[in-house]
Amino acid sequence: MTIFTTKLLTIFVVVSIVLLSACSTPANNLVHTQALGAYLKDLFESHDITLDSSDFLGPVEEPYLAFAKMLNLIPSSEQGDKEITDEIAEQISEQFLSIKDYILLDGLYGKIDMHEHYRDDGDVEEFLSAAGCLGISKVLFVPTGLGPDNEGYEQHQESLIKHIKEEFPEKIIAFCTIDEADPRAAEIFEQCLKDGADGLKLIGGHTSFYDEPLNSENMYKVYQKASEYGVPILLHGSILTIRGLKEQLEKVYSDFPEVTFIHAHYSSTIMNGIHLDECAELLDKYPNLYIDLSMGGGIKRYHGYYKLKISIFVDFLVAYQNRILFGSDIILNTAKHKDFDWLYRRMKCDIDLHQQEYYDCSFGEEENPKPGFYLDEEVLRKLYYENPRKVLGY
Ligand SMILES: [Zn+2]
Repeated sequence: MTIFTTKLLTIFVVVSIVLLSACSTPANNLVHTQALGAYLKDLFESHDITLDSSDFLGPVEEPYLAFAKMLNLIPSSEQGDKEITDEIAEQISEQFLSIKDYILLDGLYGKIDMHEHYRDDGDVEEFLSAAGCLGISKVLFVPTGLGPDNEGYEQHQESLIKHIKEEFPEKIIAFCTIDEADPRAAEIFEQCLKDGADGLKLIGGHTSFYDEPLNSENMYKVYQKASEYGVPILLHGSILTIRGLKEQLEKVYSDFPEVTFIHAHYSSTIMNGIHLDECAELLDKYPNLYIDLSMGGGIKRYHGYYKLKISIFVDFLVAYQNRILFGSDIILNTAKHKDFDWLYRRMKCDIDLHQQEYYDCSFGEEENPKPGFYLDEEVLRKLYYENPRKVLGY
């Protein structure tokens, strides 16, 4: 044997040992994977949650995947055929088990919540998980400062549009806001739209924020931008408490028929009595007008009126079912009590109000059970999904 062949043999032996040791690595060091979609199906079905596409308000290809996204268990960009490791599966399972008992199985999944407020550093992830458990898959947030000049709104707006919306592009609908008295309002609004916003919220028209007529020359430049960009405007508009505001808004609604307006809180007509006739009059006169049913901090007042005669409200909602949106009007900020449980319970009051004949709610009026609207599924589908889509131009 020559020195050359001895060297070759040595190299062969060394390489063989390396290869053999690699092949004989114990099996438990190999990473086991499975398809995400199949895993989710097993996970939900093993907890008696069976789904098909008819459980969703909008079209979905993979119900189990869509459900997991709604619950915020996985990012919205995930695909069902993605291979996940056991470690990831474990994380999803743990997260699911921590919220399992909160999940409302009403078969109305994919609701769109059209009225919530955001202040910088509010825990959006927590909010989306709580909302997801109630079947809500999209949430409209409006950045909101402090009255009377919407002080600090720029910071909340920047954070919402540039960070939060970017992090959850499929789940967050983000509106801009402005200071109605600021001569640069139209310019600021346009820049905000260019940054990716979906519409405008006017806080002026709320008694704590009002200092500028909403039909001013300055504001007309703002509405003109909404018209150019084809985006909706949500506004508070206390027409029963601010003198002259109703006339101002009527002028705006009629001068911008191409712009969709959402006049929140039954157009602020459930105050000092039930004035739904005034709300109906506005809806009849202006086809570009929608309302929302959000109760916000006024929840006790609304409960008081619902208790008086719920059928007045139900008849109204059925009559105007094509023009109604849902939202809770929560201000998501860093207040410690607004944790998952609080957010969930507060939003559930609204869902139960719409869907139940009687329901318990620990906010507002203390007496339980409270009478609910008990709306038909057809009406609920419009309120939760079809009307928001029309307003947002989906
Ligand atoms: Zn609000």
